[in-house]
Amino acid sequence: MPRTKFVCGNWKMHKTVAEAVQLVKELAAGLGDVAGKVQVAVAPPFTAVHAAAQAAAGSAIEVAGQDVHWEAQGAFTGEVSAAMLAEAGCRHGIVGHSERRQLFGETDEAVRKKVGALLAAGLAPIVCVGETLAEREAGRTLEVVDRQVRQGLAGLDAGALGRVTVAYEPVWAIGTGKTATSAQAQEVHAAIRKILREMGGSVADAIRIQYGGSVKPENAQELMSQPDVDGALVGGASLKAKDFLAIVKGALR
Ligand code: PEP
Repeated sequence: MPRTKFVCGNWKMHKTVAEAVQLVKELAAGLGDVAGKVQVAVAPPFTAVHAAAQAAAGSAIEVAGQDVHWEAQGAFTGEVSAAMLAEAGCRHGIVGHSERRQLFGETDEAVRKKVGALLAAGLAPIVCVGETLAEREAGRTLEVVDRQVRQGLAGLDAGALGRVTVAYEPVWAIGTGKTATSAQAQEVHAAIRKILREMGGSVADAIRIQYGGSVKPENAQELMSQPDVDGALVGGASLKAKDFLAIVKGALR
């Protein structure tokens, strides 16, 4: 069974409510016959999640949270639960993004707990993994990614694993304009699929592995034509409808 490509825009700390609604409307109007052939999601800031989901209703655009807390409720100032994301209209939640890991101290153990909370709330986790430049230069890429995948997804049975998307995002490629070559991406994606097979057996063949890191209209098609690259997690280029739509369309060619 071929895997349906999955492209998600990570808007990070960009877009007010009004801007988010406008962008979702432009995306929905521009999808054309790609709708239903490529899975498409956007991850607005929390403040715009509900409005974006309402603007996306009836279209093929799905909404993701950029982060989540693992507890259901409580004294966790600034945090948002998985049930809150689901009620606001999310279908997915991003966890383990390198900015969360580097700037906010997110650990593999926190990723594991967040994945569990998302699944329990009926949301699909997008679990980001990837090495820093120093780790790549030290030849530690596969070791780092192996640890992040095994620890972030520890304890999931095959059914739960099958609901996860993994996003391979080399940290040195995020927001830098430097993209991994398609061969570099394919090498790590194939390694991730091997780990997923060891963890969950044949369900690994159905799990989407997105590439992220300076994906643009010019390189999206080449990256997503690799056998184990099943879509993209897109930061900067997801903020303009024209660029994001071109990337989504690149998934089909
Ligand atoms: C990201 O933040 O997930 C990302 C891949 O960013 P960019 O596309 O801007 O490199």
